[in-house]
Amino acid sequence: HVKDHGTNNYCIYKPEMNNNTLDKIIMENDLKRAIDTREVIVYYQPKFDTKKNILIGFEALARWNHPELGLISPCEFIPIAEETGLIIELEKLVLEQACEQMKQWHEQGASSLLIAVNLSQRHFYQEDVLCRINGILEKSKLEARFLEIEITESMAMFNEKATITKLNDLRDRGIQISIDDFGTGYSSLSYLGKLPINRLKIDKSFILDICTNRKNEAIVKLMISMADHLSLSILAEGVESKEQIDLLQELGCIEVQGYYYCQPVPAEEAAKFLKADSVV
Ligand code: C2E
Ligand code: MG
Ligand code: MG
Ligand code: MG
Repeated sequence: HVKDHGTNNYCIYKPEMNNNTLDKIIMENDLKRAIDTREVIVYYQPKFDTKKNILIGFEALARWNHPELGLISPCEFIPIAEETGLIIELEKLVLEQACEQMKQWHEQGASSLLIAVNLSQRHFYQEDVLCRINGILEKSKLEARFLEIEITESMAMFNEKATITKLNDLRDRGIQISIDDFGTGYSSLSYLGKLPINRLKIDKSFILDICTNRKNEAIVKLMISMADHLSLSILAEGVESKEQIDLLQELGCIEVQGYYYCQPVPAEEAAKFLKADSVV
Protein backbone atom coordinates (compact mmCIF):
# COMPACT_ATOMS: atom_id res chain seq x y z
CA HIS A 1 0.00 0.00 0.00
CA VAL A 2 1.02 3.60 -0.49
CA LYS A 3 0.78 6.17 2.28
CA ASP A 4 0.63 9.87 1.59
CA HIS A 5 2.32 11.96 4.30
CA GLY A 6 1.53 15.45 3.08
CA THR A 7 4.43 16.63 0.99
CA ASN A 8 6.42 13.41 1.36
CA ASN A 9 5.18 10.49 -0.66
CA TYR A 10 6.32 7.43 1.20
CA CYS A 11 5.66 4.22 -0.62
CA ILE A 12 5.73 1.32 1.73
CA TYR A 13 7.03 -2.18 1.28
CA LYS A 14 4.16 -4.48 2.24
CA PRO A 15 4.33 -5.53 5.91
CA GLU A 16 3.75 -9.19 5.03
CA MET A 17 7.02 -9.12 3.07
CA ASN A 18 8.92 -9.18 6.35
CA ASN A 19 7.88 -12.76 6.93
CA ASN A 20 8.78 -14.06 3.52
CA THR A 21 12.38 -15.09 2.91
CA LEU A 22 12.22 -14.58 -0.85
CA ASP A 23 10.76 -11.08 -0.51
CA LYS A 24 13.44 -10.29 2.04
CA ILE A 25 16.20 -11.40 -0.30
CA ILE A 26 14.68 -9.23 -3.03
CA MET A 27 14.57 -6.22 -0.75
CA GLU A 28 18.05 -6.91 0.58
CA ASN A 29 19.47 -6.95 -2.95
CA ASP A 30 17.50 -3.88 -3.86
CA LEU A 31 18.82 -2.04 -0.80
CA LYS A 32 22.38 -3.20 -1.47
CA ARG A 33 22.14 -1.76 -4.98
CA ALA A 34 20.54 1.42 -3.62
CA ILE A 35 23.49 2.02 -1.30
CA ASP A 36 26.01 1.44 -4.12
CA THR A 37 24.15 3.69 -6.57
CA ARG A 38 23.49 6.40 -3.97
CA GLU A 39 19.75 6.10 -4.07
CA VAL A 40 20.06 6.30 -0.30
CA ILE A 41 20.37 9.99 0.44
CA VAL A 42 20.43 12.28 3.46
CA TYR A 43 17.73 14.73 4.52
CA TYR A 44 18.39 17.38 7.14
CA GLN A 45 16.12 18.62 9.92
CA PRO A 46 17.12 21.87 11.64
CA LYS A 47 17.48 22.21 15.43
CA PHE A 48 16.95 25.57 17.11
CA ASP A 49 17.65 27.42 20.33
CA THR A 50 14.36 29.21 21.02
CA LYS A 51 15.83 31.59 23.58
CA LYS A 52 18.67 32.93 21.46
CA ASN A 53 16.51 32.47 18.40
CA ILE A 54 19.24 30.72 16.45
CA LEU A 55 19.88 27.61 14.40
CA ILE A 56 22.13 25.22 16.33
CA GLY A 57 22.53 22.40 13.85
CA PHE A 58 20.86 19.65 11.84
CA GLU A 59 19.95 16.02 12.27
CA ALA A 60 20.86 13.84 9.29
CA LEU A 61 18.10 11.36 8.42
CA ALA A 62 18.38 8.60 5.82
CA ARG A 63 15.94 8.41 2.91
CA TRP A 64 15.69 5.88 0.11
CA ASN A 65 14.81 7.57 -3.15
CA HIS A 66 13.57 4.47 -4.99
CA PRO A 67 13.22 4.80 -8.79
CA GLU A 68 9.84 3.02 -8.87
CA LEU A 69 8.49 3.30 -5.34
CA GLY A 70 9.43 6.91 -4.58
CA LEU A 71 10.72 8.13 -1.24
CA ILE A 72 10.85 5.29 1.31
CA SER A 73 10.85 6.05 5.05
CA PRO A 74 13.77 4.86 7.20
CA CYS A 75 11.23 3.03 9.38
CA GLU A 76 10.84 0.67 6.41
CA PHE A 77 14.44 -0.02 5.48
CA ILE A 78 16.53 0.59 8.62
CA PRO A 79 15.23 -2.58 10.34
CA ILE A 80 16.02 -4.65 7.23
CA ALA A 81 19.42 -2.99 6.88
CA GLU A 82 20.14 -3.86 10.52
CA GLU A 83 19.00 -7.43 10.13
CA THR A 84 21.11 -8.04 7.03
CA GLY A 85 24.19 -6.11 8.15
CA LEU A 86 23.84 -3.60 5.29
CA ILE A 87 23.40 -0.95 7.97
CA ILE A 88 27.19 -0.58 8.29
CA GLU A 89 27.58 0.52 4.67
CA LEU A 90 24.38 2.55 4.80
CA GLU A 91 25.43 4.51 7.86
CA LYS A 92 28.91 5.01 6.44
CA LEU A 93 27.23 6.70 3.48
CA VAL A 94 25.05 8.85 5.75
CA LEU A 95 28.04 9.81 7.94
CA GLU A 96 30.17 10.69 4.90
CA GLN A 97 27.49 12.79 3.24
CA ALA A 98 26.51 14.53 6.48
CA CYS A 99 30.09 15.39 7.53
CA GLU A 100 31.02 16.63 4.07
CA GLN A 101 27.87 18.74 3.88
CA MET A 102 28.45 20.25 7.31
CA LYS A 103 32.07 21.03 6.44
CA GLN A 104 30.78 22.95 3.39
CA TRP A 105 28.28 24.87 5.51
CA HIS A 106 31.04 25.73 7.98
CA GLU A 107 33.14 27.05 5.11
CA GLN A 108 30.18 29.18 4.04
CA GLY A 109 30.29 30.87 7.44
CA ALA A 110 27.98 28.79 9.66
CA SER A 111 31.00 27.58 11.54
CA SER A 112 29.43 26.65 14.88
CA LEU A 113 26.68 24.30 13.67
CA LEU A 114 26.52 20.67 14.79
CA ILE A 115 25.62 17.73 12.61
CA ALA A 116 23.86 14.83 14.32
CA VAL A 117 23.87 11.32 12.87
CA ASN A 118 21.90 8.32 14.14
CA LEU A 119 23.84 5.15 14.83
CA SER A 120 22.23 1.72 14.89
CA GLN A 121 22.86 -0.78 17.64
CA ARG A 122 24.69 -3.08 15.26
CA HIS A 123 27.02 -0.34 14.07
CA PHE A 124 27.57 1.19 17.51
CA TYR A 125 28.77 -2.08 19.00
CA GLN A 126 30.97 -2.89 15.97
CA GLU A 127 34.56 -3.21 17.10
CA ASP A 128 36.00 -0.77 14.55
CA VAL A 129 33.24 1.85 14.70
CA LEU A 130 35.53 4.58 16.06
CA CYS A 131 38.10 3.78 13.40
CA ARG A 132 35.46 4.19 10.67
CA ILE A 133 34.17 7.46 12.11
CA ASN A 134 37.75 8.72 12.42
CA GLY A 135 38.39 7.97 8.77
CA ILE A 136 35.26 9.87 7.75
CA LEU A 137 36.14 12.86 9.94
CA GLU A 138 39.65 13.01 8.51
CA LYS A 139 38.41 12.78 4.93
CA SER A 140 35.79 15.49 5.40
CA LYS A 141 38.11 17.63 7.56
CA LEU A 142 35.21 18.31 9.93
CA GLU A 143 36.36 18.81 13.51
CA ALA A 144 35.11 16.02 15.79
CA ARG A 145 33.41 18.41 18.22
CA PHE A 146 30.89 19.33 15.50
CA LEU A 147 29.77 15.75 15.07
CA GLU A 148 27.08 14.41 17.35
CA ILE A 149 26.15 10.74 17.47
CA GLU A 150 22.58 9.87 18.44
CA ILE A 151 21.98 6.50 20.07
CA THR A 152 18.58 5.51 21.38
CA GLU A 153 17.95 5.06 25.08
CA SER A 154 17.04 1.40 24.55
CA MET A 155 20.35 0.81 22.73
CA ALA A 156 22.25 2.34 25.63
CA MET A 157 20.43 -0.10 27.93
CA PHE A 158 21.55 -3.14 25.95
CA ASN A 159 24.90 -3.73 27.63
CA GLU A 160 25.97 -1.29 30.32
CA LYS A 161 29.68 -2.05 30.37
CA ALA A 162 30.13 -2.16 26.60
CA THR A 163 28.09 1.03 26.20
CA ILE A 164 30.20 2.99 28.67
CA THR A 165 33.43 1.79 27.01
CA LYS A 166 32.19 2.77 23.54
CA LEU A 167 30.92 6.13 24.69
CA ASN A 168 34.21 6.89 26.42
CA ASP A 169 36.08 6.13 23.16
CA LEU A 170 33.85 8.55 21.25
CA ARG A 171 34.13 11.22 23.92
CA ASP A 172 37.92 10.91 24.06
CA ARG A 173 37.91 11.60 20.33
CA GLY A 174 35.86 14.77 20.99
CA ILE A 175 32.60 13.56 19.45
CA GLN A 176 29.33 14.59 21.14
CA ILE A 177 26.70 12.07 22.19
CA SER A 178 22.91 12.36 22.45
CA ILE A 179 20.47 9.90 23.91
CA ASP A 180 17.62 9.73 21.38
CA ASP A 181 13.97 8.83 22.07
CA PHE A 182 14.60 9.57 25.73
CA GLY A 183 11.81 8.45 28.05
CA THR A 184 10.99 5.28 26.14
CA GLY A 185 13.86 3.09 27.35
CA TYR A 186 13.58 2.77 31.14
CA SER A 187 17.13 3.80 32.01
CA SER A 188 17.77 4.50 35.66
CA LEU A 189 19.04 7.77 37.05
CA SER A 190 22.15 6.10 38.43
CA TYR A 191 22.98 4.55 35.06
CA LEU A 192 22.40 7.82 33.19
CA GLY A 193 24.78 9.52 35.59
CA LYS A 194 27.52 7.08 34.59
CA LEU A 195 27.18 7.69 30.85
CA PRO A 196 29.62 10.15 29.23
CA ILE A 197 26.94 11.94 27.19
CA ASN A 198 26.14 15.55 26.27
CA ARG A 199 22.43 15.68 25.61
CA LEU A 200 19.03 14.05 26.12
CA LYS A 201 16.48 14.17 23.31
CA ILE A 202 12.96 13.94 24.74
CA ASP A 203 10.95 11.48 22.67
CA LYS A 204 8.27 13.08 20.52
CA SER A 205 5.52 10.97 22.12
CA PHE A 206 5.79 13.16 25.25
CA ILE A 207 5.73 16.40 23.25
CA LEU A 208 2.74 15.45 21.07
CA ASP A 209 0.10 16.25 23.72
CA ILE A 210 2.21 18.09 26.30
CA CYS A 211 -0.17 21.07 26.29
CA THR A 212 -3.22 18.97 27.20
CA ASN A 213 -1.82 15.96 29.04
CA ARG A 214 -0.78 16.92 32.59
CA LYS A 215 1.00 13.62 33.09
CA ASN A 216 3.24 14.13 30.08
CA GLU A 217 3.89 17.69 31.16
CA ALA A 218 4.97 16.39 34.57
CA ILE A 219 7.22 13.75 32.98
CA VAL A 220 8.88 16.30 30.70
CA LYS A 221 9.37 18.61 33.69
CA LEU A 222 11.13 15.76 35.48
CA MET A 223 13.34 15.01 32.46
CA ILE A 224 14.38 18.66 32.27
CA SER A 225 15.21 18.63 35.96
CA MET A 226 17.20 15.39 35.55
CA ALA A 227 19.19 16.87 32.67
CA ASP A 228 19.85 19.93 34.77
CA HIS A 229 21.12 17.88 37.73
CA LEU A 230 23.33 15.78 35.47
CA SER A 231 24.62 18.89 33.62
CA LEU A 232 23.28 17.65 30.30
CA SER A 233 21.70 19.62 27.48
CA ILE A 234 18.12 18.72 26.67
CA LEU A 235 16.23 18.96 23.37
CA ALA A 236 12.57 18.31 22.58
CA GLU A 237 11.82 16.53 19.30
CA GLY A 238 8.48 16.53 17.51
CA VAL A 239 7.58 20.15 18.24
CA GLU A 240 4.64 21.07 16.03
CA SER A 241 3.09 24.20 17.59
CA LYS A 242 3.94 27.57 19.12
CA GLU A 243 2.04 26.52 22.28
CA GLN A 244 4.41 23.57 22.74
CA ILE A 245 7.44 25.83 22.26
CA ASP A 246 6.13 28.35 24.81
CA LEU A 247 5.38 25.66 27.38
CA LEU A 248 8.77 23.97 26.84
CA GLN A 249 10.52 27.30 27.25
CA GLU A 250 8.59 27.93 30.47
CA LEU A 251 9.67 24.49 31.72
CA GLY A 252 13.30 25.22 30.80
CA CYS A 253 13.77 23.31 27.55
CA ILE A 254 14.98 25.71 24.87
CA GLU A 255 16.46 23.37 22.27
CA VAL A 256 13.83 22.06 19.86
CA GLN A 257 13.35 20.27 16.58
CA GLY A 258 10.09 19.62 14.75
CA TYR A 259 7.61 20.20 11.96
CA TYR A 260 6.68 23.59 13.45
CA TYR A 261 9.93 24.84 11.95
CA CYS A 262 10.66 22.35 9.24
CA GLN A 263 10.40 18.72 8.19
CA PRO A 264 13.59 16.91 7.24
CA VAL A 265 14.52 18.34 3.80
CA PRO A 266 17.24 17.94 1.16
CA ALA A 267 20.50 19.85 1.72
CA GLU A 268 19.68 22.69 -0.72
CA GLU A 269 16.48 23.42 1.15
CA ALA A 270 18.08 23.05 4.57
CA ALA A 271 20.69 25.64 3.53
CA LYS A 272 17.99 28.33 3.57
CA PHE A 273 18.10 28.21 7.36
CA LEU A 274 21.78 29.20 7.38
CA LYS A 275 20.93 32.67 6.17
CA ALA A 276 17.82 33.35 8.23
CA ASP A 277 18.33 36.00 10.92
CA SER A 278 15.32 34.98 12.92
CA VAL A 279 13.47 31.71 13.05
CA VAL A 280 10.44 32.16 15.27
P1 C2E B 1 14.70 9.75 15.14
O1 C2E B 1 16.18 9.69 15.12
O2 C2E B 1 14.03 9.84 16.47
O3 C2E B 1 14.33 10.97 14.20
C1 C2E B 1 13.23 11.81 14.41
C2 C2E B 1 12.07 11.40 13.56
O4 C2E B 1 10.96 12.21 13.92
C3 C2E B 1 12.29 11.64 12.06
O5 C2E B 1 11.57 10.65 11.35
C4 C2E B 1 11.60 12.99 11.87
O6 C2E B 1 11.16 13.18 10.54
C5 C2E B 1 10.45 12.87 12.81
N1 C2E B 1 9.97 14.18 13.21
C6 C2E B 1 10.67 15.32 13.32
N2 C2E B 1 9.89 16.33 13.73
C7 C2E B 1 8.65 15.83 13.88
C8 C2E B 1 7.39 16.41 14.28
O7 C2E B 1 7.26 17.58 14.56
N3 C2E B 1 6.34 15.55 14.36
C9 C2E B 1 6.43 14.24 14.04
N4 C2E B 1 5.35 13.49 14.14
N5 C2E B 1 7.60 13.67 13.65
C10 C2E B 1 8.69 14.47 13.57
P2 C2E B 1 12.22 9.88 10.13
O8 C2E B 1 13.11 10.79 9.37
O9 C2E B 1 11.13 9.18 9.43
O10 C2E B 1 13.16 8.84 10.85
C11 C2E B 1 12.61 7.85 11.66
C12 C2E B 1 13.68 7.12 12.42
O11 C2E B 1 14.51 6.39 11.52
C13 C2E B 1 14.63 8.06 13.16
O12 C2E B 1 14.07 8.48 14.38
C14 C2E B 1 15.81 7.14 13.36
O13 C2E B 1 15.62 6.33 14.48
C15 C2E B 1 15.76 6.26 12.12
N6 C2E B 1 16.84 6.65 11.20
C16 C2E B 1 16.86 7.55 10.20
N7 C2E B 1 18.08 7.59 9.59
C17 C2E B 1 18.85 6.70 10.26
C18 C2E B 1 20.22 6.26 10.15
O14 C2E B 1 21.01 6.73 9.31
N8 C2E B 1 20.62 5.29 11.03
C19 C2E B 1 19.78 4.76 11.96
N9 C2E B 1 20.25 3.81 12.79
N10 C2E B 1 18.52 5.15 12.10
C20 C2E B 1 18.05 6.11 11.27
MG1 MG C 1 17.62 10.78 15.97
MG1 MG D 1 14.01 10.46 18.32
MG1 MG E 1 12.57 7.82 16.88
